[in-house]
Amino acid sequence: MGRQTEKTKFNNVAGDYATVIQNGLNAYLEKIVDLQAFFEASEQVTTTEFCLFTEKILAGYDSTMRLVWVRVTKTERTAFVQKQHDNGETNYRIRSWRADGLLPVSPVREEYYPILYTTIEGAKAGTYGTDLTSEPQRSNAIARARDNDTLAIAQDVVLLNPFVQNRSGFLAFLPVYRWGMRHDSVVERRRNILGVVVGVFRTSKVIDRVLDKATLPRNVDVYLFPANASADSAPVYMRQVPGSEVPKDPVSKASLMTLPYWASLPISAGDASWNLFVTPANGEFGSNMRAWLVSALILLVFGAVLAYLWASLRHALRLEGANTRILELAQTDILTSLANRRAFMKRLNMAFAASLRGAPAFAVLYLDVDDFKDVNDTLGHAMGDKLLKDVVARLKDIVREEDFVARFGGDELPFSPPISSIRPAATLAMRIGEALAKPFLIDGHKIAVTSSIGIAVFSREISGPEAMMVQADLALYGAKDEGRNCYRFHSRDLDRQVHERVRVADELRAAIETNELELYYQPQVELATGRVTGIEALVRWNHKTRGLLTPASFIPIAERTGMILALGNWIFDEACRQLRAWQAEGIAPPVLAINVSGVQLKSASDLESEIEECLDRWSINPGNIELELTESVLMEATQKHSVTLENLRRLGTKIAIDDFGTGYSSLKYLTTYPVNRLKLAQEFVFRVTVDYRNAAVVRAAIRLAHELGLDVIAEGVETEAQVRFLLGAGCEQAQGYYFSRPVRVDEITTILREGRVEPKTGTTRRFTSAA
Ligand code: C2E
Ligand code: MG
Ligand code: MG
Repeated sequence: MGRQTEKTKFNNVAGDYATVIQNGLNAYLEKIVDLQAFFEASEQVTTTEFCLFTEKILAGYDSTMRLVWVRVTKTERTAFVQKQHDNGETNYRIRSWRADGLLPVSPVREEYYPILYTTIEGAKAGTYGTDLTSEPQRSNAIARARDNDTLAIAQDVVLLNPFVQNRSGFLAFLPVYRWGMRHDSVVERRRNILGVVVGVFRTSKVIDRVLDKATLPRNVDVYLFPANASADSAPVYMRQVPGSEVPKDPVSKASLMTLPYWASLPISAGDASWNLFVTPANGEFGSNMRAWLVSALILLVFGAVLAYLWASLRHALRLEGANTRILELAQTDILTSLANRRAFMKRLNMAFAASLRGAPAFAVLYLDVDDFKDVNDTLGHAMGDKLLKDVVARLKDIVREEDFVARFGGDELPFSPPISSIRPAATLAMRIGEALAKPFLIDGHKIAVTSSIGIAVFSREISGPEAMMVQADLALYGAKDEGRNCYRFHSRDLDRQVHERVRVADELRAAIETNELELYYQPQVELATGRVTGIEALVRWNHKTRGLLTPASFIPIAERTGMILALGNWIFDEACRQLRAWQAEGIAPPVLAINVSGVQLKSASDLESEIEECLDRWSINPGNIELELTESVLMEATQKHSVTLENLRRLGTKIAIDDFGTGYSSLKYLTTYPVNRLKLAQEFVFRVTVDYRNAAVVRAAIRLAHELGLDVIAEGVETEAQVRFLLGAGCEQAQGYYFSRPVRVDEITTILREGRVEPKTGTTRRFTSAA
């Protein structure tokens, strides 16, 4: 094995170790976040509830970790201790922490954080009641957690345990604030802190457990040092292969760095960080493997590598899921201090059961800020977060505490006021809509948003709280469909529409198989000469009973149900097949444009490789394909999609912005995304000759395109006057009924054979006057 490849291999293994340990730690920390969410969502937690909950969330994480919940002020002390006595804990005292494990009763202090709940039954007698602020490292970490509303770590401390002496570990603290109280500033946080949730980790046990569960090559030794440890201090954790040859006495960062191979990788948790040192167990990575041994083992190793790859991939996926969840939970809690989904559903369950038993009914109002993503995209996430906080604050001014506002991630804010009929619910929704429509002033920016609300009112016919949420959600969709900035009640009619949608989606699925779909094509023309420079594929559905359907009646449904993915694949394949046939005949246009839905771009499936495969299948040169995306899709495109777009362009396909001008005023994305061509929206082209403002917009857009070095084509050209205007404004290409409607394959084939189209003047005027 060459020295360089050997080294690369070693570095890869070291990197895998760091990833596995980091992900493993995160999975443990997630448990504390869960516990924090549980406490923040509950007004009161009994010891029994605590035990039940932790038992559930700690399943599989056993005694490597304990979770405790603590906090008492000076004036509360006597009553607090008495309460524990009344609950049967007759030995409960608030005690001071001492390294020797003797825990004297605490002197009077301003506040205490005594252990109140703990998952370790056996240890209770020893540490129960211990005031964590009586020890400086713990006390500092609690203060950081509280003041910054964050996960703070007391790193590398001595853990107390009545059974084992001198164990080193770390403690992770998350703050819990009083239910429904604000904690935006340090002052508010100090005032409204209710306690902290703590995870106690014995470093060696946690890491051993994580590594034991992982499938990793075992020929390396690992050591963990606090990031700020001096070069000669001992590791807080080490794991050596039995019989490891490396002299490591005393082991320190300095001694490890003298070895021929070593790697140092960062590991972090909350505000603490460590260095993970990895060294080959026998100094040189694999160098003592004899050639004969290698060949004899090759088969075995190959199998093991496959198994390892597979296992670690699965592992990584699972852990990635866990990481996502930790973030989700943490963000929800930190940002708005609102209850999360779990808490809200718990509350809704109770309300629903109570109403069934005869308590007054209630409603669920599901609020969503319209186009919230645009704020995030154009002004940044920090601004989006601030806006959301202000929205919540305004909302809270209007609703009452018992209305129980929650946040379901993003900008979805459901709440549940005790309202039993339609009229007061409508009044409330109206007031909220008006209040939120007033502009927000954030960091000097004036931001105007609107909101949509879906409403479901309790009735005995609803099968349960989940069904009620579905109703509110459907109603919210209904409100969005009606143009946003409005509220809508759930109704049978809405249910019917939903069923209709599901039916159309089912039919569409079948339609792909039974060849009911067909591509029509519309030519793109050079204005000066009438020469065909390209064609756009536009899908049609020859429905068995409803006749010819245009995309407007089924694309939105396909998008909402995910059918668009299968449909999109069919369209792409069919268009490529047809292009191949035209190429064989020697009449193919230089460019075939295909519409791509934003849902296709955003879906988890791999758009680029699907397109690439299809191009390969029909031996199509990617440069002959242009993908049409709408502005809104590009605006919503996150970093990930911009990579997809970049990859597509690298593949060689062209990219056009469809319906340019109808989406957004921000043109930032034009410089961000790899676009080749603008397609001026027909809405603008339509009125260029009758409305000077439209004319100005179109002229400006054409100039802009030229300045950015982009091609430009006008859509929806219907009259000769429009053609003259466009020519005057410097637009060279157009598409529209003036030249040809979208037509079937045989007709477009005729047009392609001729290579040019004669405008059909006269027949199309009525379309303009219909506007
Ligand atoms: P689009 O991509 O902007 O397509 C142009 C639409 O304008 C087409 O409607 C076309 O028939 C119509 N049009 C063309 N020239 C004129 C004109 O001079 N006057 C007027 N009034 N209209 C004209 P169509 O075929 O109904 O398609 C509507 C939209 O549906 C398309 O807008 C596109 O966004 C979507 N669409 C069509 N085919 C597909 C497809 O294969 N995949 C996807 N994802 N979307 C598609
Ligand atoms: Mg298009
Ligand atoms: Mg268009």
